[in-house]
Amino acid sequence: MSQPLAPGATIGIVGGGQLGRMLAMAAARLGYHAAILEPDPDCPAAQVAKVHIDAAYDSAKAVEKLARISDVVTYEFENVPVTVARSLSDLVPLYPPADALDAAQDRLSEKIFLNAAGIPTAPFLSVDGDEELARGLVEFGGNGVLKTRRLGYDGKGQRVFRGAGPEDTRGVVAAMGGVPLILEGLVPFAREISIIAARGADGALAAYDPAENVHRAGILFQSRVPARISDATAEAAREEAFAILSALDYVGVIGVEFFVLGDGSLLVNEIAPRVHNSGHWTEAACVVSQFEQHIRAVAGLPLGDTSRHFDCVMENLIGTDQDRAPALLAERDLMLHLYGKAEARPGRKMGHFTRLFPLGELAG
Ligand code: AMP
Repeated sequence: MSQPLAPGATIGIVGGGQLGRMLAMAAARLGYHAAILEPDPDCPAAQVAKVHIDAAYDSAKAVEKLARISDVVTYEFENVPVTVARSLSDLVPLYPPADALDAAQDRLSEKIFLNAAGIPTAPFLSVDGDEELARGLVEFGGNGVLKTRRLGYDGKGQRVFRGAGPEDTRGVVAAMGGVPLILEGLVPFAREISIIAARGADGALAAYDPAENVHRAGILFQSRVPARISDATAEAAREEAFAILSALDYVGVIGVEFFVLGDGSLLVNEIAPRVHNSGHWTEAACVVSQFEQHIRAVAGLPLGDTSRHFDCVMENLIGTDQDRAPALLAERDLMLHLYGKAEARPGRKMGHFTRLFPLGELAG
């Protein structure tokens, strides 16, 4: 793309969840229209978009329509079928590139890609049967996390082993659905952090400050910024994120999750080729949010300033937590975001809020 998209252009978004909603809102603020492809008639993104194509992601007709009405297409979740991404990119510019989806969709190829790019991860082994699992656990000293290679999110499709012997592995692979699995060494991390970084169409790189993340029941509960890490660890996270972006010839925003070990060194847990839950704080604490940054990148505009003007804590509102909205709105220095989901099912992300503090107040 040689020229930036002009106002009035349409940005197609595959996926209609809250990330698509916030991308559509950021696009609108820059004068663009959003077209959403999502097979849910009342999805969060379609509520704020100009066009909603209510069809399956792999409907050839729908994909062709999305390409026809869009000047550029992006996506808000990493499980967009790679075949769909490739057919879209034959018709219209697609960012981030389909190769990024390919690398991120399978935990095994993700780790192979990362290690080849010189980026350390937990040790890992491919597992297809109980005996292989038992051998792997012996190799990892009885401790490990068994995960489905594909379609896992928010801790779903995972099983943790501590001090396990061969008897603990019987029937496990079948119980996990008989699908291809990966066994990772159990990382004794001190903290979990993530970094939201971006690469522009011109190759420019930018990153926000790393966030320190706390998970509950496998779901992100809280992100606080600044993370309690050294400047050297923060710089290493930034450099690794930039290396990943360059290796993928990426355009757009990426989320990279890390384990921080006791000595401050890093292992990448996973990459998300999209805007990320642990970057929601940027809409309250920075002038340019991760959502606007992504829209800028895919529209061929200059990347925005990632400076942080507050310390902050972002928390997700899960299930009936959204009933706290009126009380939260009575607080000062708090930004609330609800996603317009009709049904507050347990474990469902309904919204989030970010509490702001003066710069330096959460340091140390
Ligand atoms: P994931 O779905 O891979 O992001 O995993 C969800 C959460 O499980 C992570 O945020 C960690 O808290 C934990 N976890 C995942 N993999 C490992 C590992 N190899 N070692 C220790 N904890 C892990």
